[in-house]
Amino acid sequence: MNQRVDYVFKVVLIGDSAVGKSQLLARFARNEFSLDSKATVGVEFQTRTLTIDQKIIKAQIWDTAGQERYRAVTSAYYRGAVGAMLVYDISKPQTFEHTVRWLEELRGHADKNIVVILVGNKSDLVTQRAVSIEEAKAFAETENLFFIETSALESTNVETAFLTVLTEIYKTHCKKVL
Ligand code: GDP
Repeated sequence: MNQRVDYVFKVVLIGDSAVGKSQLLARFARNEFSLDSKATVGVEFQTRTLTIDQKIIKAQIWDTAGQERYRAVTSAYYRGAVGAMLVYDISKPQTFEHTVRWLEELRGHADKNIVVILVGNKSDLVTQRAVSIEEAKAFAETENLFFIETSALESTNVETAFLTVLTEIYKTHCKKVL
């Protein structure tokens, strides 16, 4: 029997290769983590159904699945997206520096109301930290993004990161002003 669904939200994962996008999605969608994950090429999405404000939301989360290595993320990837998670690796400063480019690309392709969260992943790599919380927060504030640090490995804040985006999408797109 088909379950009733009130809304479907498309959310795209973006960011450099190997920052942990696939693992964040695996955690959120299936509560799995694998240390030797290999990127598969081609667009993929996974869904999870959850309830927000008593509405049944189907979150359809898209993963670039390796396309970014060839700088070949197409406009179809962004089409219809109402949310985005822009991921970098806190131990790799380049991946943080590149978030500016990703944001430009996103803003060039996506709807202007898109909800974006900046995600500093691999927070478990404490001794290898190369991007401070303060600088990431400052960037997020300037660009009007939500911000959170996560560890897909330790399952820290992953649920909160996705729920922040989904709840904000719901508020922006679905909730009637009373
Ligand atoms: P993607 O290319 O952005 O999809 O990155 P993947 O999800 O394939 O992850 C790249 C590598 O980083 C894999 O070896 C993962 O096991 C590892 N990884 C992902 N998330 C974390 C994390 O939170 N902490 C640590 N230490 N490693 C992670």
